[in-house]
Amino acid sequence: MSELHNTRIVLVRRPEGEPQDDDFEIQSLPIPPLAEGEILIQVVWLSLDPYMRGRMSDRKSYAPPTVLGEPVTAEATGVVAASRSERWHQGDTVCVRSGWQSYVVTRGDDPEVTAVDAKAHPLSSYLGVLGMPGRTAYFGLLRVGKPRAGETVVVSAAAGAVGSAVGQIAKLLGCRAVGVAGGPVKCRYVTSELGFDACVDYKAGNLEADLAAACPDGIDVYFENVGGAVARAVAPLLNPGARVPICGFVSAYNAPDMTQVETPFDVFGSLPDPPEHRFFLVFDYAAEYPEANAKLAEWVAQGKLKYRETVAHGIENTVAAFRGLLRGKNLGKQLVAVAKEP
Ligand code: NDP
Repeated sequence: MSELHNTRIVLVRRPEGEPQDDDFEIQSLPIPPLAEGEILIQVVWLSLDPYMRGRMSDRKSYAPPTVLGEPVTAEATGVVAASRSERWHQGDTVCVRSGWQSYVVTRGDDPEVTAVDAKAHPLSSYLGVLGMPGRTAYFGLLRVGKPRAGETVVVSAAAGAVGSAVGQIAKLLGCRAVGVAGGPVKCRYVTSELGFDACVDYKAGNLEADLAAACPDGIDVYFENVGGAVARAVAPLLNPGARVPICGFVSAYNAPDMTQVETPFDVFGSLPDPPEHRFFLVFDYAAEYPEANAKLAEWVAQGKLKYRETVAHGIENTVAAFRGLLRGKNLGKQLVAVAKEP
């Protein structure tokens, strides 16, 4: 084991605007022998998520920023490569809060290490449709959006990890699902493959009119993932009693000064008859994860909840893939393949 090296990508400078290669440093460090009670996890799949951009800055947030000189916060799935804990055995497959690195040494009783069944579902899917993004779609839509059959549900970033699940769950509940996504390829995917009723290409230059045409009965639930121009186009179409779960506003994440950005709270809060709108965090529903995990897995197994993944190969490509995620280069969940599946 002393031969093994951990490749990690650490933050060395807080990005201004879009993250640049030299905001990060790739390091290769020898992995020390395990102490009693510790385990070594080899990362197989690394998750890239828009929230990581926020952690690279040191402005006030619901979570502390990434410490300079440390790997960027991230979740991963992988395999226990060595164990000095009674709880885990070599070959066990797990989900872990790893950070951007290829190996993790942690305590066997670390609550952030959870078993995942790689025989039931691909290891990668526990970071997407069966992981945090899937649960975000589930709780944000059901608990905050509270859709009823027959209502119109609009979701932005509709071809992404969260948005693709939101629209499909809305359809399962008997709603009209309308996506908003960037480009014809993504819009075709959203309607033809995922079964949304319509998808509006916000880059086509006719957003307000196209959205109004796709929502002839107005909008009852808007699941907010992006903010900006899409939020402004949605606002006048909201019906009385509409609900707006504010999940995120990725269009602003690379803004040089977030305090100057018009947020969805500004857009929806300033309407003459504001909809019910609030930010939610998936972690608020931690006690109910077993319910979501079971339901999402059931829908996937039944073919009712489809998903795609965009994969960057090799941990050295993490920064470029992360930039791509914020530019919309991903279709579905953005992952990095760090090692071969066990
Ligand atoms: P996605 O897989 O949806 O990837 C991000 C997508 O955002 C891109 O593919 C791109 O799609 C879209 N995008 C980027 N820039 C813009 C822009 N200027 N205008 C419109 N769309 C843009 O990511 P996730 O599914 O992981 O996350 C979606 C949202 O959910 C994010 O806001 C994220 O922060 C939030 N989130 C919140 C959680 C919570 O607990 N509140 C938990 C998890 C995620 P396109 O090509 O269509 O532009």
